Amino acid sequence: MAVADSNKRVRSTKHQPQRFIKKNRKPPQRAVAAAPLRQWPPKKNSKTSIVGACRYWMDGKCLHGDRCRNLHSWFRSSSGGGQTFSMSSKLEGHKKGITGIATDVSSSKIYTGDKDGIVRVWDVTGKCRKVVNIGREIGCMMMSSRNSLLFLGTVDAVKQWNTQRDVVELSLGGPIGQVYAIAMSHEEDMLFAGAQNGDITAWKLMATHNNISGIRKQFQQHSIMVGHTSVVTCIVAGSEYVFSGSMDHTIRKWSLTSLECVQTLRGHTGDVLSVLCWNEYLISCSMDKTIKVWGTTHDAGLVEEIYTRDEEDEGLALHGMFDEDGKPMLLCSCGDDSVRLYELPTFMERGRIFAKDQVRAIEAGRAGPYFFTGDWTGLVTVWKWNKENDDKDKALQQQH
Ligand SMILES: [Zn+2]
Repeated sequence: MAVADSNKRVRSTKHQPQRFIKKNRKPPQRAVAAAPLRQWPPKKNSKTSIVGACRYWMDGKCLHGDRCRNLHSWFRSSSGGGQTFSMSSKLEGHKKGITGIATDVSSSKIYTGDKDGIVRVWDVTGKCRKVVNIGREIGCMMMSSRNSLLFLGTVDAVKQWNTQRDVVELSLGGPIGQVYAIAMSHEEDMLFAGAQNGDITAWKLMATHNNISGIRKQFQQHSIMVGHTSVVTCIVAGSEYVFSGSMDHTIRKWSLTSLECVQTLRGHTGDVLSVLCWNEYLISCSMDKTIKVWGTTHDAGLVEEIYTRDEEDEGLALHGMFDEDGKPMLLCSCGDDSVRLYELPTFMERGRIFAKDQVRAIEAGRAGPYFFTGDWTGLVTVWKWNKENDDKDKALQQQH
């Protein structure tokens, strides 16, 4: 039964790839770049076998109580005795799998989208303030950082959402099939969407004339980037290049100026489901149960695989962020319904989140020490990073 169940999940992932999201709250200078390449691969003892959460307890049916050999907890967290993070709250309301989470720093609102096309808008207290039915599956969500525009990947289009009025104000056509990946250039003047047919549509922000409001800037279709032979599942834009991952097992590197494919990165033997840039490194995860780190190792500027980490389960989604102590953390959602929290560049496991079903959406908060996970049952969980010294301070206070 357990085997059949996991097979079903693995299959369903093939048709529901997860996009990559990366938004760092803090400047990335202190991240991986400072670490020399030889720190990959990390020490062997960084991989530990971890007791998982009790499936019976999750359903409120465990009869073993304290004697249960599995964890009766939604997470496991450690940092030298203290807790790296803890659960803050649960946002309940979605009935279908969460495909996107986005936060708006100007309004402190949290947006969540699901497979059924429902967008929910939450305030900081965790109250749902608005429910909007888009009418078609949402494949991914992305918030622009400067313009406070929210983009939703749907079928044959990207919907532009106005965060002031919380309505869809524009539909950008061009993609063919479901859009699973959206990314923006650093300048936020280029928008990219990867679709089911393997193409990436690029839009450019252009001034347009409008009878009512005069001149305003809008995204205009610029070009179609053709190359992938299967569904594009993830895109990330760096300062000079755009990287895209696909179910064709490859990652493509595109020039941001010419929008032409300049390199095809081969190495994964399964669907690539997530890519993220961390300074000069590219990190990817795949259905082949590996996380790969890529870097430019020669003068020619070619990107090469520099480290492969074997996971016990399929890698579904990656997200990079900093913990409260400023340490770079990599969150990796896996096929066993868990999210692993690794400290970079050592890949030391700092904790694990357990869910009832796969986590396809991970997002860092724009304000405060929070991050979010959304699972395939429709549950969104809010997590809080703890400061390493919090526990020590408390212990000291108790002594006095
Ligand atoms: Zn139990």
